[in-house]
Amino acid sequence: MLHFGALEAGGTKMVLSYLDENGTMLERLSLPTRTPETTMPEMIRFFQEHSIDALGIGCFGPLDLNPASPTYGSITATPKLAWRHYPIMNVFRDALKVPVKMDTDVNGAALAEARLGAAKGLDSCLYVTVGTGIGGGVVIGGKPVHGLVHPEVGHQLMHPVEGDPMPEGICPYHKGCLEGLASGPAIERRWGISAKELPPEHPAWDLESTYLAQMCVNAMMIFSPEKIILGGGVMQQKFLLPIIRRKTVQLLGNYLCADAVDKDLEDYIVEPGLDIHSGVMGAYLLAREALEEA
Ligand code: ADP
Ligand code: ZN
Repeated sequence: MLHFGALEAGGTKMVLSYLDENGTMLERLSLPTRTPETTMPEMIRFFQEHSIDALGIGCFGPLDLNPASPTYGSITATPKLAWRHYPIMNVFRDALKVPVKMDTDVNGAALAEARLGAAKGLDSCLYVTVGTGIGGGVVIGGKPVHGLVHPEVGHQLMHPVEGDPMPEGICPYHKGCLEGLASGPAIERRWGISAKELPPEHPAWDLESTYLAQMCVNAMMIFSPEKIILGGGVMQQKFLLPIIRRKTVQLLGNYLCADAVDKDLEDYIVEPGLDIHSGVMGAYLLAREALEEA
C-alpha cells in the first residue's frame, strides 16, 4: 500500500495530512505558520515519521511554477516576508527524498473538484475561495492552468458599483481589485462589522453578490470553465449563491449560448462538492501525480 503526504500551506496555518492510496485520511496535524526556520523542521518531522511515498503541496502564492526557472518551486512576492523567495518545494524534496509536486492552494482545490467533486467528469472548472483573501484556481483540459505565472483571480480589476461606500478598495497592490473590494476583510472595513455578523438584509450582501457576479462573468468570458465553484468563509452565507447566479445571468445579457447557462445557472455556479476538503484532496492528487511522473 502506498502512502502520501498532503500539505495545505497557508499564511496563518499549515495543515499536514497523511493518506493512503485510496485517499483515506490516516493522520492530520495543524501548525501555525511561523518562519521557515521553525516551521519547516516541524513539518519535515511529521512527514518523516509517516514514511510517505510522495508529497503534494497546495501553497499560498504567488509561486514560481515554471520548471525551467532557477527558482522553480519557490514562494515569490508574498507579504509574509519570512517566506518570500523561500524554495519550499526543493527543501521538502531534499529532506524527504521523495517526489514532490506543488501548485497554488486554489489550483489544487480546483483539480480536486474537477476529479472528485462538483466538476467531476468535466474537463474544466474554476474554483474560487472568498475568505481572508480571494483566490481562484483554474483547470482547463483536466490540468491546472499555469501559463505566464498562474491565474490570480482575486486580483482582477473590477467595475466599481454605483453607491459603493468604499469603491477605492483595500488591496495594497491594486486597491479596488476583487480581493480589495469583496474579501472578508474588505466587507468588514467597509461596514465596520465582521462579515459573519452582518444580517442577510444588510446592503453589504447586494454589493458583495454584484462583485462576485462580475467575477463569474469575467471568468466565463476569459476561461470559459464548464463550472464555477464558490467556497470559503464568506460563502457560508448560503443565500448569496442564488443572488450571484441571478446577477450573473443579468450581467451576461443573453450573450453566451451554452446549455449550462440556460437554466438560471443552478448547476453552473455551485458550492464545492468536497465541502471543506477540496484543499487537502488537491494536495493528495498532486502527490499522486508527483509519484506517477517520477
Ligand atoms: P481563510 O480565507 O483565512 O482561509 P475563511 O475562508 O474562513 O479562511 O475566511 C475568513 C473570512 O471569511 C473572514 O474575513 C470572515 O469574516 C469571513 N467569514 C468566515 N465565516 C463566515 C460566515 N459564516 N459568514 C460570513 N463571513 C464569514
Ligand atoms: Zn489586488
